[in-house]
Amino acid sequence: MRIDLHTHSTASDGTDSPAELVRKAADAGLDVVAITDHDTTAGWAEAEAARPAELTLIRGMEMSCVGRGVNGYPVSVHLLAYLFDPADRGFAAERERLRAERVDRLRAMAEQMAADGLPIDPDAVLAAAGPAAGRPHLARALVEAGVVPSVNAAFTDLLASDGPYYVEKADTALRRAVTMIAEAGGVSVLAHGRARSRGRLLDLQDVRDLVSHGLGGLEVDHPDHSAQDRATLRDLAGECGLLMTGSSDYHGDNKTIVLGECTTEPAQFEKLVGRATGVPVLAS
Ligand SMILES: [Zn+2]
Ligand SMILES: [Zn+2]
Repeated sequence: MRIDLHTHSTASDGTDSPAELVRKAADAGLDVVAITDHDTTAGWAEAEAARPAELTLIRGMEMSCVGRGVNGYPVSVHLLAYLFDPADRGFAAERERLRAERVDRLRAMAEQMAADGLPIDPDAVLAAAGPAAGRPHLARALVEAGVVPSVNAAFTDLLASDGPYYVEKADTALRRAVTMIAEAGGVSVLAHGRARSRGRLLDLQDVRDLVSHGLGGLEVDHPDHSAQDRATLRDLAGECGLLMTGSSDYHGDNKTIVLGECTTEPAQFEKLVGRATGVPVLAS
């Protein structure tokens, strides 16, 4: 069984439509794939309709949260949410707030760039970005306008968190997100928890505290994790009785990672499914 539990479609910042994503997952020899777009379930219906019969589909999402870093600083944390009930009132309202927040924030950044004379049209950027608007959309507009040579260059300069145009997001507090996912019948898994290239790291003590609030697991095998990172997370999962997943974090052509680059052990997958009560696994 080949199981990849973290992928993105055009419903957020991937380049494959949800239908293309499930077809490519089957073509890549995966038995199970999860669709986990940022802060939205907008890709679920299309992925479900296009699912090849031999592919098992897990409906999920990757949530942007704020946790506590070493020294107590706030850190941006991604939390995977699997098989939750999308109609759960509290969780649905929070997703709606996050979507509005994403759009407002991207507009503020684009408008400041335009005001400073950069060749950026905020309306065009927002229209192209759609509901899961994020910095990658603005980065691509900057590349197309010839302001920066690459998306990466945009992120290390104009769009950096200590750069001139950065606007803070009011993300969900990590503990609250863990609680909401559990209440919606879902299973939460901390995404790429040791990926230093993404900024300051979450305090591991914070992870221990989350277990009693319903945290389900840790993403151990991820392309951004070193062997040492994986060992650290594996130890922590063992200590806390958490699930361990492995996933590609596939984004289509936006990254060089391929589907199934990292995978989840079948026994861990079965445990995850066994804990979820929100929506069923889609299998033939
Ligand atoms: Zn992420
Ligand atoms: Zn991701």
